[in-house]
Amino acid sequence: MISETIKKDGPARQGMLANVMRQFEHAADSIELNPNIRKILAITNNELVVHFPVKMDSGEIEVFTGYRVQHNNALGPYKGGLRYHPTVDLDAARALAMWMTWKTALAGLPYGGAKGGIQIDPKKYSNAELERITRRFTYALGDNIGPELDIPAPDVNTNSQTMAWILDTYMSTRTPNERSKNLHVVTGKPIGAGGSEGRDRATGFGVFLTVKFWAEKEKLDLKGKTFIVQGFGNVGYWASWFLEKEGAKLIAVQDVTGTYYNKEGIPVDELNDYQKSAGSLEGYNNAALMANDKFFATDCDICIPAALGNQITASNAHDIKAKVIAEGANGPTDIDAEEVLLQKDITIIPDILCNSGGVIGSYFEWLQNRNGEIWTMDEVMEKLEKKLKTSFDRVMNLSQERGVDTRTAAFMIAIERLEQAYIQRGIFP
Ligand code: GLU
Repeated sequence: MISETIKKDGPARQGMLANVMRQFEHAADSIELNPNIRKILAITNNELVVHFPVKMDSGEIEVFTGYRVQHNNALGPYKGGLRYHPTVDLDAARALAMWMTWKTALAGLPYGGAKGGIQIDPKKYSNAELERITRRFTYALGDNIGPELDIPAPDVNTNSQTMAWILDTYMSTRTPNERSKNLHVVTGKPIGAGGSEGRDRATGFGVFLTVKFWAEKEKLDLKGKTFIVQGFGNVGYWASWFLEKEGAKLIAVQDVTGTYYNKEGIPVDELNDYQKSAGSLEGYNNAALMANDKFFATDCDICIPAALGNQITASNAHDIKAKVIAEGANGPTDIDAEEVLLQKDITIIPDILCNSGGVIGSYFEWLQNRNGEIWTMDEVMEKLEKKLKTSFDRVMNLSQERGVDTRTAAFMIAIERLEQAYIQRGIFP
């Protein structure tokens, strides 16, 4: 059992997996989840670890370790991203796969949850090496992924190019008759390779929308509001872009190279152009460098963690001044920090709601591929907004009705949907 693994390994191992399990158990208690179904949901269905060799540019062979964890598929095919990062391991993939199950269930999608990736620092490899690593990983995953079985997507340090390589490798290893039926084996593809309009910005747009819905609920105007963003990848950039368009001001941004602050506002597209040419935010001089550990203490209205898990902890939560935390990342707030934030009356827009625009956009791409349709950007954005608004309202209403925090409310909705599926179907045999 996952929970036993956590107990056995003690506090040193209590990372994202311990957090997601605590979140799950708390919500399961609140809805008095059927104890038999609790046993099923507390554990992952399948866990795949692959080791595969790849020839480097130097001619040397390097062996990589890749993961794919499939948590649950009661509601539909497994769905979730692939991440390339040194922190990827089995426990991280388990935790992130579980979050995907709750996320897709909350969004009302016909999907389950999965996650995976490679334990690698992609900055250390050339583009050609990354292509060979990705293709060989796809080959190693073999028939464990598939358009109606398990559908990967981009995540930390993977992008539409990565998805195009996966698609091409997957298609190339099918029989000729099957080849063109497999476009929807991955989502987040480039438009020319079967991707969807709007998928690139879907996660960040969704983060922005949830902040907008929150502001409307609080009767606040986003114009002139200040925000800070941790991580300036796809999610951080697009969330900032839409917020700036609405009149809000980006005043601090943090990436692995440092923390950049300008109380007059950092122009989002200028920052993005800089990052594209320099490869990171290092050296960006239209902002002052500030201490990394002071980032979350920045005086602002909106705080958007959009990088890795466990960034908001007991050591920085007390200093947070924002009124709302919009979780663009998966699992950015640990359990101890959550208590502090709730005491301080800071609203948390939980990850499984806040960043669900990404997987909703993926679902639209998958549907288009499956049905041979091509939707316009406007159609995609409109449908995305409708879906997110429904989820947002359900979470906020339940939170109010039941007097529970927003994360617990979101988990309750997701878990109840899964409980229904199991109760109605029963357990084979
Ligand atoms: N990696 C994204 C997430 O964590 C997207 C997953 C998907 O589109 O399948 O939600």
